[in-house]
Amino acid sequence: MIEKQANENGGEEESLDPQDWGEMRQLGYRMIDDMMNYLETVRERPVWEPVPDATKQSFKEKLPLAPSTLESVYQNFLTNIMPYPTGNIHPRFWGWVMGNGTPLAMLADMLASGMNSHVGGYEQSAAYVEKQVIEWMKELMDFTTDSSGLLVTGGTAANLVGLTVARHAKAGFDIRERGLQQTGEPPLLVYCSTETHSWAQKSVELLGLGNQSLKRIPVNENFEIDAGALLRQIKEDRAGGARPICVIGNAGTVNTGATDDLTKLAEICRNEDLWFHVDGAFGALALLSPKYKSLMAGIEQADSLAFDLHKWMYLPYEVGCVLVKNREAHHDTFALTPSYLTSATRGIMGGELVFANLGLQLSRGFRALKVWMSLKAHGVNLFGRLIEQNIEQAQYLSHLIKAEPELELLAPVPLNVVCFRFQRGDLSDAELNELNEEIMVRIQEMGLAVMSATVIKGQFALRVANTNHRSLRSDFDLLVKAVVEVGNQIINSEVIDYAAK
Ligand SMILES: *Cc1c(COP(=O)(O)O)cnc(C)c1O
Repeated sequence: MIEKQANENGGEEESLDPQDWGEMRQLGYRMIDDMMNYLETVRERPVWEPVPDATKQSFKEKLPLAPSTLESVYQNFLTNIMPYPTGNIHPRFWGWVMGNGTPLAMLADMLASGMNSHVGGYEQSAAYVEKQVIEWMKELMDFTTDSSGLLVTGGTAANLVGLTVARHAKAGFDIRERGLQQTGEPPLLVYCSTETHSWAQKSVELLGLGNQSLKRIPVNENFEIDAGALLRQIKEDRAGGARPICVIGNAGTVNTGATDDLTKLAEICRNEDLWFHVDGAFGALALLSPKYKSLMAGIEQADSLAFDLHKWMYLPYEVGCVLVKNREAHHDTFALTPSYLTSATRGIMGGELVFANLGLQLSRGFRALKVWMSLKAHGVNLFGRLIEQNIEQAQYLSHLIKAEPELELLAPVPLNVVCFRFQRGDLSDAELNELNEEIMVRIQEMGLAVMSATVIKGQFALRVANTNHRSLRSDFDLLVKAVVEVGNQIINSEVIDYAAK
């Protein structure tokens, strides 16, 4: 029991601090031991297991009015919560785009939570840590030293910030004051390729521009934007009376890891006076590798760049970053100082709320600490080598697929994403789609590996996105073997079923 009991005589005041700090400290030591064991032995467990019904039932309890013992609450965590994660901590998880997290960053999150700093700004160490991290991010991304930046919850939030600054800077009228409800202003348009992640649609919808304002431009055979088609569309829209404001470039698409010709897009944006935003959610991190950073050439010319640190920098959720070249435009998009937030010349409020004035959030957590600690403790070179390792593992997997007659690569592998399928000449595309979905689900249910899926030119694709610092080449050997075996098992059992009819 951690709360102080109210005194019967009504005397004692309460708090949420433990009465017995020794007991809380012991529990903390146990939690660290249990979690370190959990991470150290992650490879020995299935990648994923469904949540059992009894466990689901345990989450239908009545609202707890009275306290329970620490021991019982923690036991409940150990029994019902810890055993059923998404699985992305495991060496054979490659679904969607998820990072693993790291033991060190987990501890950093604990420290940050203990300090519980409000990082809207304020004169405090956490603000200097975040500023330091932003300086490092600018250096890593080859952004100019006078750029601004902000840590946010993730790629979607980072991209939304970038697009919001673009709208503010290029609307042609005071959009903060007048909004989008005015008549007499031309419609504002945003351009991206058909391969762009769904954050872009969510964002134009949220920003009041509407889904129609997002012009999807076709891609070439490498899934990169067709720059000629883009330019034609911009000119045509402008001739029709609309106002193009922004081009979104992809540095690593979610489907296949393709990167648009960013140098070309930057040139188009300069010539057409458009904001150039780059979604580098995971791809931008390739800049950490001296060997592969040239894949992202042109990214440094973006007006704004969004990327995740909880994907290909392997840090625990949630942390993403946005960088903006034009510091004033960034600040002017969000800054607002009501009377209860005015600054003083000295004291804790000396200076404005620097971070709150660069984004939506006023209250912000200390997510910079895990970034700062991880970069210092591991060094950026190790992150670069891990990113290289992931790219080369993806190339290795694509070689295994090409060497296996029953597998077919469905898209080029320019980065760390591999799209493929099980195939047999005697099966139709419709049958193959169904078969491959069944393969994906069975391998998940076996707890062997997690792949996700996408559709490439109408074909269901098994998709491996490798942002996993724990994967080994042998894990990909196992995956390929499993896909072939499970594919054949399904086909054979279906043949038997037919015979029985
Ligand atoms: C994951 C992803 C996003 C969205 O980032 P979140 O961190 O999930 O919000 C945007 N773009 C791309 C290319 C992504 O892979």
